[in-house]
Amino acid sequence: MVSSTVVSGDADRPRRWRDAWEPVDAKTRAALDQRWNELPESVRTPGQVLGRFGIGCEGTHGVFPKCDFACTPCYHSADANKVRVDGEHTLREVEAQMAFLERTRAPHAHAQLIGGEVSLLSAEDHAAAIEIMRRHGREPMSFSHGDFDYDYLKRLAVTEEGKRRFGRISFAVHIDSTMKGRRGMRRAPDEESLDPYRQRVVEMFRRLRRDHGVRFYLAHNVTVTPANVDQIPGVIQRSHRLGFGMFSFQPAAFIGDERRWRDDYASLEPDRVWAKIEEGAGSRLPYEVFQVGDTRCNRTAWGFYVGDQWHSFVNDQDPKDLAARDALLAHLGGVHFRAPPLLLAIRLTRVTAAHPRLVPIAAGWLVRTMRRAGGIRHLWREHPVPTTFVMHRFMHAADVKPAWALLQRGEMSDDPRILETQERLLACSYAMAHPETGELVPACVQHSVLDPQENSILAALLPIPRRRGVGLIEAEATDLEDAN
Ligand code: SF4
Repeated sequence: MVSSTVVSGDADRPRRWRDAWEPVDAKTRAALDQRWNELPESVRTPGQVLGRFGIGCEGTHGVFPKCDFACTPCYHSADANKVRVDGEHTLREVEAQMAFLERTRAPHAHAQLIGGEVSLLSAEDHAAAIEIMRRHGREPMSFSHGDFDYDYLKRLAVTEEGKRRFGRISFAVHIDSTMKGRRGMRRAPDEESLDPYRQRVVEMFRRLRRDHGVRFYLAHNVTVTPANVDQIPGVIQRSHRLGFGMFSFQPAAFIGDERRWRDDYASLEPDRVWAKIEEGAGSRLPYEVFQVGDTRCNRTAWGFYVGDQWHSFVNDQDPKDLAARDALLAHLGGVHFRAPPLLLAIRLTRVTAAHPRLVPIAAGWLVRTMRRAGGIRHLWREHPVPTTFVMHRFMHAADVKPAWALLQRGEMSDDPRILETQERLLACSYAMAHPETGELVPACVQHSVLDPQENSILAALLPIPRRRGVGLIEAEATDLEDAN
């Protein structure tokens, strides 16, 4: 039995080598084709990246629902803070969800370690979760309020013996004035007062890189409400030099814990919010050059700063740049850019050998882009900094519930609002896995439909222990505090 496995392994070796050199492996190609075929016709635009460049992002759920902040709004359900943080549970669930995504979706994807406050996990459990995600081909990003100390970050990235665990880590750091509970500033009066906290977080990651050689990618997340929408330009202008590679703004929606809903979120028209982001960037942000799913959900602009001036990677008003975009999507879609460097080089060489036109197209794009950004000397002096702007608009739970129920019956609604919700769900770029049912659901569905029941089951499975002698269940105390 053993020897036949070895023989068959040896016989397979030439095929495995050939497969490894393929620019895009067969499973990824099939996943891309499936994603493209599932997309509504209306979003199959020339700039659509889903199904052509990647399959979209993923996130964990129900792995550590608790959070020690009280944000308004909060997308976690009312029972989230009744669930104990339990590393064993977290790792078991992360393993199950990631294995499912690798098996049923695609070999590689970006995935958020999310669903509560990740820094409530011990640094060891947090590191183990990242390792599991990587083992399943996921590029993890830990989603946190950033209110932890350098020691925690160091223990996450470096073992007790001083050995580096990761060459690079990614965090999405949520800091804004809708949050309550930050040490040193329990309630922030405005966005500007949080600037020292933004700086502090980036400084910790810089120190980690300096002292232990761990590189980082940081996204800065901001929930947008009517109260802080006009402060977006200031956040960007004051923070874009700090070291964030992405600014991601989420207009608030009526989703999650009803006790935390404030204001009239319906007034947050997408064009109004995007105009504020553009004002902060000091530039038009062309979000249709690369479209991620439905632009009613996502607007994304990829580019770079040179000094205080932001430039798009692709000039949407130049047909030659658009042709370069088309070539990129047509010939490099699905390539795993995080493959080992030698393998990646072999794969890219094979792509260019098969499509030699890519070389002059890429060279032309590079020369035009450098000229647009002020020329090579200016770029050399100013050190361009890649910076992405994102607006992600979650949907209201009251719309998602009926829209999802109809989709599950294979029906489309006559009501234009619910129909729009259904179209957006079908083009969703942010999926969550349910290995126990075999389902893959949009994050909007997770938060609007599935979280409440999932969290109440978890609250029974992982109850927060009674504090001895206090007479109050800690969960109830937290809950009462949350409601205030
Ligand atoms: S359906 Fe919801 S989770 Fe999916 S991309 Fe749209 S807003 Fe995001």
